[in-house]
Amino acid sequence: MRAVVYREPFEVALEEVPDPRIEQPNDVIVRITSTGICGSDLEVYEGRTAGEPGLVFGHENLGIVEEVGAGVTALERGDRVVMPFTVACGFCRNCQAGSTGSCLTFAPPGRAGGAYGSVALGSGAGGQAEYLRVPYADANCLPLPAGTDHESDYVLLSDVFPTGYHGCRLAGVSPGETVAVYGAGPVGLMAAYCALLCGASRVFVVDPVPERLAKARDIGAVPVDSSAGDPVQQIEDLTGGEGTDTGVDATRFPVPARTGEGQEHARVLDQLVHTVRPTGRLGVPGLCARGQPDGVPTRARPGALLVAMDTLVEKGLRLGTGRADVRRYDRQLRDLITVGRASPSFVVSHELPLDQAPDAYRRSAQRADGVLKVVLRPDAA
Ligand SMILES: [Zn+2]
Ligand SMILES: [Zn+2]
Repeated sequence: MRAVVYREPFEVALEEVPDPRIEQPNDVIVRITSTGICGSDLEVYEGRTAGEPGLVFGHENLGIVEEVGAGVTALERGDRVVMPFTVACGFCRNCQAGSTGSCLTFAPPGRAGGAYGSVALGSGAGGQAEYLRVPYADANCLPLPAGTDHESDYVLLSDVFPTGYHGCRLAGVSPGETVAVYGAGPVGLMAAYCALLCGASRVFVVDPVPERLAKARDIGAVPVDSSAGDPVQQIEDLTGGEGTDTGVDATRFPVPARTGEGQEHARVLDQLVHTVRPTGRLGVPGLCARGQPDGVPTRARPGALLVAMDTLVEKGLRLGTGRADVRRYDRQLRDLITVGRASPSFVVSHELPLDQAPDAYRRSAQRADGVLKVVLRPDAA
């Protein structure tokens, strides 16, 4: 089959690789119809991880069940399914407690969490390919209505929609509250969108990129242009000096090393500490990649970044962190899409056939041509 393979920094290729096979009785093979390119794929692409050549990308996968292992009970050939980016067994201590993003069965020794096509987590091959092997399939496939409706909405159930929602849950966003979201990439826009779904009264979205701020305005959030002045001060002014009730950090960590901004994430978290009012709450739903090979400033390399802990503690802020436990939310978020109450696909800027993946990576990494979120369509001509 054809798959999107990492070759070396700034080079991916469409290669012929062996078809995945049923390896365990509880596997299924899914024929992929939609698969997203994510910011964490770009970290591998840019050589900022320990990613090895030959890695098949792709953890944002939707498709049709093609082959069913003998031990699978809840799925049949022909079912349309979307898979959370985190691979979960369903029976370990963390999965049983609902923390499916921290599955112990798929984790490297001493760690928690598994994902497709991942470097930092326990992993199998990714789904930017014609087919994907899904282990523990009963626990890792969310059934979707048959047909092709809402394809670009449903594919976002694999990661950015629940991750944005998770940011709001970590921050405990409640009806009527004000929210500051730092970062207007796909996850930040999803966090803002979910905050509004949760009934927030006003959502401020901080970013320097005009097109992204325009998207934030389109969904009813208040854009805050961080290139036009201190966003903390801007939000303070917009809230009558009070600050917001809650905040979500949806910036990537670490930011691109080549820009020399290895402490950016600390700065954003630091800005959030100053943006949120005393007794407020913060959510950090991002993924912190380890093993940065080079180029990252010394302080960022071991993950030690500066945050105003004195202010955080003095203000009595609560801080929630961690990967989204997608299975906690994806059923409910799916049903919002199905009944027409949510359409997260406004973040999808490009839908492209699989063979355009190398170009899509290049343009995504350059943040060029209005690229916000690319969904690859392996079944497209
Ligand atoms: Zn992703
Ligand atoms: Zn587990």
